[in-house]
Amino acid sequence: MKSTLPASLLKAKKMKAGVEEVKVVAVIDKKTSAVCRSMHGRIIPIKSVKDQADAITAATDIEEKKKASRWQSKPIFGKLPSDVALPPYHFRCRTIVVAYFPQIAEIDGKNVNGSLLPGEKYKGNKEVVFSHVDRFGYERVVTDKTLEHGGTDHGLKLKDYIAGLNSLESMAIQSRDERRTVGYSRDRNLFFVFEDGEVITAYSPDDGENYFKREALKGTIESLSIKKGESNEKM
Ligand SMILES: [Zn+2]
Repeated sequence: MKSTLPASLLKAKKMKAGVEEVKVVAVIDKKTSAVCRSMHGRIIPIKSVKDQADAITAATDIEEKKKASRWQSKPIFGKLPSDVALPPYHFRCRTIVVAYFPQIAEIDGKNVNGSLLPGEKYKGNKEVVFSHVDRFGYERVVTDKTLEHGGTDHGLKLKDYIAGLNSLESMAIQSRDERRTVGYSRDRNLFFVFEDGEVITAYSPDDGENYFKREALKGTIESLSIKKGESNEKM
């Protein structure tokens, strides 16, 4: 497939600096915990990891050690608690962190920050159109397949996806397919489905937030509490 963006709009460069962030990578299958499904794809500053490692090392007894590395039972889509950075996040956790290499691209004078650049191949035959990193460090990729589906079936354009991602207010695990997560932007009345960091689809449900609540796995909804005028964008 032809590139979605004209080359003249895309100036990309790799960051020269060393690793400053790590990315959480979970094994996504039937056994994956809600915690790890929610954490999958989150980018965490090395400093948070180091602070937590220091706290664990400095702990003088087992209780303090446990406190410094608390096991989680609920999904975390919003702000990361200070005692959560390094896996394991729970008993028998298979999640790891890997070095994260951000890249910077410029499209229409706007910086795009992610590990994937527009035009890069994604999962075989897909192509990255936009890589969005939110203020909690989640990277979500809009591919040509996302746009193809969203444009044909739901009349959405790239700017609709970006506006929706910037105003996501609620996140949850999807109930019908627990490998997936769902999000809702009240501002745009947009319901999102994500899988492994990819925006699978988005559309405006007739009954808005109630639709999102029905699609969410019971007990996994997290409110991201965006204040008016505040954006979900990292930069
Ligand atoms: Zn886990």
